[in-house]
Amino acid sequence: MPTLAAYSLPRRFLLASVAAFAVLGHAAHAADKLPVTASFSILGDLARVVGGEHVKVTTLVGADQDAHVFEPKPGDAKTLLASQLLVMNGLGFEPWAGKLVKSAGYRGETVVAAKGVNARFMRTESSHAREHGQEPDPHAWQNPNNVVLYVRNIAAGLSKVDPAHASDYQANANAYVQELQALDTWAASQIFAIPAGKRKVITSHDAFGYFAARYDITFLAPQGISTEIEPSAKQVAKLIQQIQREKIRAVFLENMSNPQLIAQLSKDAGATLGASLYADALSAPDQPGATYLRMMRHNVVQLVAGLKLN
Ligand SMILES: [Zn+2]
Repeated sequence: MPTLAAYSLPRRFLLASVAAFAVLGHAAHAADKLPVTASFSILGDLARVVGGEHVKVTTLVGADQDAHVFEPKPGDAKTLLASQLLVMNGLGFEPWAGKLVKSAGYRGETVVAAKGVNARFMRTESSHAREHGQEPDPHAWQNPNNVVLYVRNIAAGLSKVDPAHASDYQANANAYVQELQALDTWAASQIFAIPAGKRKVITSHDAFGYFAARYDITFLAPQGISTEIEPSAKQVAKLIQQIQREKIRAVFLENMSNPQLIAQLSKDAGATLGASLYADALSAPDQPGATYLRMMRHNVVQLVAGLKLN
C-alpha cells in the first residue's frame, strides 16, 4: 500500500499541471490564432491566404531575401518552437531547415509544400550534384499550376493541426486555386503572343526553369539553380558570346541576388537591362511583388516587354 508521502507528490504535480494548463489555455485564447512558421516569403503569403483569420504566420526568410544562403539565428529557433506548423518548400530549397528543426527541438507538424510536384532535375556544380550528377530544381512555385498543389498541401497541413477550421481552410484554398488558374491563363495568353523564336531571356540565377517549361521561354543564367556558387569567368564569357550570337536583348535582375554580375554581363554583351524579376522572394509591401499573384503578374509584364526587344 502506498504511503501518504507517495500520494502527495503526484497530487502536487497534478495541481501544478492544472495551473500551467490554465495559463497556457489563457495565452492561447488571448492570441486566438494558430502560430505557423513559413520558411520563406512566398510560402508565408500562401499560408496567410489559406489560413485566413485563423492563423498567425511568421516568415523566416523575408521579402527580398535569399533563402539559398540563409543562416538561421537563435530568434528563428524560438519562432519555430512557438509554432504548431512549419511550412517549407522542400526539393532542397532550404538546406538549413533540417538543422534548425533539430536545434530548436521542434516537434510540431511540417508541410512540404512542393510534395507531389513533378520535379525538374538539372545538373549543377554543387558538391551534392557532383556526387549524384543532378539535383531537383526547387523553384516549383514559378509555375502557378504547381502552386495549386502547394495550396492543397498547406490546407491539408492546417486542417491536421486545427481540424475545427478545416472547412474554412478548404474554402480558402478553393478560392485561391481559381485565382491561380486565372493567372496561368492570362500569363499564357500574354507570352504565347510573342513569336517562339524571340522567347529568350537572361537572368542572374536559374530560378525560372518551371516557368520556362510552362510558357516555352528559354532562360539563360550565369548562376545555377542555387545562388551559392559564383560562375567562373569562363562560364560568363561563354554566356556573353551566346547573348551576342543569338541577339538576346532581354536581360533581367532578380530582387534577391547580387546585381553586379548581371549588370556587368549586360554591359559587356551590349544588351538592355530590364526591371527586376521576382525569383525566390516577394518584395516589400509597397513594391509590385508583395504577394505571389502580384509578383507573377509583374514578372509576366516585364518579361513580355523585354522579349519584344529581342
Ligand atoms: Zn533560387
